[in-house]
Amino acid sequence: MSRKIFAFAAILSLVTLGAAAPAANATHSWTNYHWARTSNPFTLKLGDNVTSAWDTYLATTSADWTVSTVLDTTIVPGSTTGKRCAATAGRVEVCNAAYGQRGWLGIASINVSGSHITQGTVKVNDSYFSLAKYNTPAWKNVVMCQEVGHTLGLDHQDEVFDNADLGTCMDYSNNPEPNQHPNAHDYTMLESIYSHTDSTSTVGAAAPATADGGVGNSASSWGTRVEGSRAKGHSTYVKDLGNDQRVVTHVLWAR
Ligand SMILES: [Zn+2]
Ligand SMILES: [Zn+2]
Repeated sequence: MSRKIFAFAAILSLVTLGAAAPAANATHSWTNYHWARTSNPFTLKLGDNVTSAWDTYLATTSADWTVSTVLDTTIVPGSTTGKRCAATAGRVEVCNAAYGQRGWLGIASINVSGSHITQGTVKVNDSYFSLAKYNTPAWKNVVMCQEVGHTLGLDHQDEVFDNADLGTCMDYSNNPEPNQHPNAHDYTMLESIYSHTDSTSTVGAAAPATADGGVGNSASSWGTRVEGSRAKGHSTYVKDLGNDQRVVTHVLWAR
């Protein structure tokens, strides 16, 4: 209700200014996804559905994001299998498997209700990480860190593969070495995304998992591509489930 009132007031003020309200709303809803919570720091559970080959990378990623002042992540036993990677309400399930040579190294999907994240999944694709090019600690750290970062509501800092490295896993880069962890800007972004509090919480919610909309391992299941491309190395897709519910999927492509 308060969100609607806010939206109405926002539209009113934009109309007063003569701006295009729908465009502003679209931009807002695609860039401001976050977990609802009533205070900071909040603790987000990462369900461990990865094999021992990935445990160290999941642990590194969890520790890296926990440096943030607004949130902590904690690794808990997974509630699905690597292959299936079904979502659990209120947390993130992290999975690995040989998902096939579908072109992607990693994907992160979040269910969003309004602007609030309600659940997330991360998949890292061993069909590529078994290849010499990607079977390195640096690549595994980059992809795990980036995909979990997306489930926190973060987007990319930089979407050009060939420019100077920013030293963050949220960079697009052909050179994983300097980009294995978040950088100071990522933590600043999190502080900004989580600078307000909500009257309700979607973290650890006891609510049943929302429909995953059939989002799976192939591009045809991800909905509409809203940014990026396979050629650019990264894409974002949105599958509209109606009723202000959607699944947003970030895809990191092999190159
Ligand atoms: Zn909120
Ligand atoms: Zn990404």
